[in-house]
Amino acid sequence: MFERIKKGLEKTKNQISESLYAISFGKKIDESLFEEIEFALLKADVGIDATEEIVEFLRKESKKRKITEGEQLKELLKEKLIDILTPCSGQLNLLGEKPDVILFLGINGSGKTTTVGKLAALLKNEGKSVVLAAADTFRAAAIDQLEVWANRVGARIVKHQPGADPAAVVFDAVNSAKSRGDDIVLVDTAGRLHTKEHLMKELQKIKRTIQKFSPNQPCETLLVLDGTIGQNSIKQAQVFKESTDVSGIVITKLDGTAKGGALIPICQKLQIPIKFIGVGEDIEDLQPFDPKSFVEAIIG
Ligand code: GDP
Repeated sequence: MFERIKKGLEKTKNQISESLYAISFGKKIDESLFEEIEFALLKADVGIDATEEIVEFLRKESKKRKITEGEQLKELLKEKLIDILTPCSGQLNLLGEKPDVILFLGINGSGKTTTVGKLAALLKNEGKSVVLAAADTFRAAAIDQLEVWANRVGARIVKHQPGADPAAVVFDAVNSAKSRGDDIVLVDTAGRLHTKEHLMKELQKIKRTIQKFSPNQPCETLLVLDGTIGQNSIKQAQVFKESTDVSGIVITKLDGTAKGGALIPICQKLQIPIKFIGVGEDIEDLQPFDPKSFVEAIIG
C-alpha cells in the first residue's frame, strides 16, 4: 500500500510543471531572494494578494527564527503554502447509498469527460460498480467519448440519442443503477454556458430528477476547471457557483502548465474544496488533492 502511494506521489512530482523550481535557494538570504520568490509566485499565478501575504510572512518569520540560509527559507515557503492549501482540500464525500450520484459540471474542453472516466477507474479499483450517465447530449462526440471510457474501465453506460433531454438520461441511469444495486452513478453534463438562466434551469431539472430517488443526492457536485487558464477560471467558476451548489473542484491539466500556483486564489476566492487534480490524459492520472505532495511537486 505504502509503495503505491509513494509511486503516485513520485508521479505527481514528475508531472506537475515545476513552476517554482527556478528560484535560487542555494545562497544566503538577501533582498534579491525575496524579490525572486515574489516574481516566481506571481509567474506561477498565485495572484497578488496571496503573493504579498506569503512574502510578508517569509520576511517576518525568517527574522524571527533567525534564518540565514536560502534552503531554510525554502522550507518556510513550503510550510506556508501547505498552511494556505490545507483548508482548501477535501475528500470525496460518498454516502454509501446505492447508488451515490456524482454530478460533473464544467465548460467544454475543461476535461470533464476525461475526469469522469478517470474517477470511474479509481472507484472500480476500490471494488465499486460504476454507471456512467451520458447527460451531455448536446455534443454527439461527448457520448462517444464517454462510451470509450466506459469500455476502457469496465463500467456500464446509459445513453440516449444526441439532442435528448439530459434529465431523461439521468433518470434512466439512476433508475437502472438502483434496480441493479450499483454503487455509483457518474453524470457527465453539457458544458454550455450561453446564459446563466439556461444553465441554472437545466441543472435544477437534473437535480430534481436525481432527488426523486433520494433527497441526499447528488452526494457531490464537482466543478471541473482547466488548470492551464490559471486564475482566469475563477470567473467561469462563479457562474456555475451562482447556478447551483458546487461541493468540490477538480483542477485538470496541471501537467501541462506552469500556472499551478493558481490553486491558491481559486480555492481562496471560491471557498470550495479542491478534491482532485488531473495530471495527464491516462487512466491513472487523477489524484486526490494532497497539499503536501502538491507543494513538493511545484517547489521540489
Ligand atoms: P470536456 O469537453 O470538458 O468533457 O473535456 P475532455 O474530457 O474532452 O478533455 C478535453 C481535452 O483535455 C482532451 O484532449 C483530454 O485528453 C485533455 N485532458 C483532460 N484532462 C487532462 C489532464 O489532466 N492533463 C492533460 N494533459 N490533458 C487532459
